[in-house]
Amino acid sequence: MYGRRAWRRERRRKEIRRYMQAAIWGVSILCILIVFAVMMLKAMEATEVSAAEATVETAAENKQKEATVQQKKSTLAEENSSQEKVATGALLVQQAAAKPEPTTIVIDPGHGGMDGGCNVGEILEKDINRMIADKVAEKLEAMGYEVMFAREGDEYIEKLERVENANKNNALLYVSIHQNFYEDSSVEGIETWYDGSDTTRDNERLAQLIQQETVKATGAVDRELISDSELCVTGKSTMPACLIETGFLSNAEERKKLCTEEYREQIAEGIANGIDLYLNPKVMYLTFDDGPSEESTEKILDILKERNIQATFFVIGEYVRKYPETAKRIVAEGHTIGIHCDVHDYNSLYASVDSYVADFEKAYDTVYEVTGVEAKLFRFPGGSVNDFNKGVCEDIIEEMENRGFIYYDWNASLEDAVEDCTPEKLVQNAVDTSLGRARVVMLAHDRVENTAYALEDLLDAFPEYEMRPLTVASKPVQF
Ligand SMILES: [Zn+2]
Repeated sequence: MYGRRAWRRERRRKEIRRYMQAAIWGVSILCILIVFAVMMLKAMEATEVSAAEATVETAAENKQKEATVQQKKSTLAEENSSQEKVATGALLVQQAAAKPEPTTIVIDPGHGGMDGGCNVGEILEKDINRMIADKVAEKLEAMGYEVMFAREGDEYIEKLERVENANKNNALLYVSIHQNFYEDSSVEGIETWYDGSDTTRDNERLAQLIQQETVKATGAVDRELISDSELCVTGKSTMPACLIETGFLSNAEERKKLCTEEYREQIAEGIANGIDLYLNPKVMYLTFDDGPSEESTEKILDILKERNIQATFFVIGEYVRKYPETAKRIVAEGHTIGIHCDVHDYNSLYASVDSYVADFEKAYDTVYEVTGVEAKLFRFPGGSVNDFNKGVCEDIIEEMENRGFIYYDWNASLEDAVEDCTPEKLVQNAVDTSLGRARVVMLAHDRVENTAYALEDLLDAFPEYEMRPLTVASKPVQF
């Protein structure tokens, strides 16, 4: 990546020019397809639904389709609007573009051929990139993935061509491998670049996992994750992509390591593990107890919405009556709502089976009246086994299960109900208690202000997890 910053402006100008040319081509092809679609429609008006089409569909689908075609015909007969033609044209374009599920991971050994990348004497970046890429591919293939190289041998292929090949092949991921160089030879470590401006692709999580795992595997300096929309291979690819700089050739010690097979093996291990974690995430169920609260719950919902993450809220009836709009918002935004209790008072709750059930029913009715949800999931205040319910917990559990309700305890916690913790401490507690488990039910409290403040960092701390809401189909975690 030698001299990247200095060349950026010139390269960007060239890329924009190429991009404009591609756009003109794209628009021309779209126009041709729309004209084609109009011609097809005219032909369809004259003929019945073809027998060939009918055999492909199931009987039910076919009826629906016939109805649609009939409807379309009459609509066309009535107005024959150009709008309809455009819509059908778009549909045809979409059908033409329908591709099978992507399966191939593109590994890009940076530079090649006449472009050696950065170098120190005989040590060329392109060669180290090549050797690491080969090892990464070997490991990925052993894990069962399909791999394609952006360059097969030592040939020179332009960056844009590499990306266009990956795009054309409908690749699953694009990972580019490079070495770094800097005038200050004391600088060392690993950095990973990604395009953070394109939110349609999950670039950041891929970059985060590859950076994290490679640092873990090598013990190298964890420099940084860099969001940059101007790098060609990460910016112009249509699949999640990142570019890792695995070390500085300008740093004598790091250069020496990069020249050993053992170190390159560690780097490859890290990159492959990062890719694997990205493609096979662990599962975390974020659960929030004791809400809703006006301030904190709304803040939490804002963050979850922005990140398109669904969680589970075990609510208190008393507060649902107080903040009905927040309870409705929880449901409207796709989160799971479950019952915690009606009034959070351990002594009266756990006095007997009857007192527990009476409180539960009150909360259940409130949630139903306010949100329309017939809650099936619940969480015991203090967990299913606690200091307050020792004599009655088994009877209560039995009674609640007979009534068809499912309770969830937890196996990790922010410990935000225990004492006054800073947001940093809450995130640390969550990391420490989750122990890297494949399946985590995380306890948090949306009444606690610092929990809302900690949420963004909390989500960033678990890139290897996919966040899901609990459902009746989720296997319960119980003490
Ligand atoms: Zn509670």
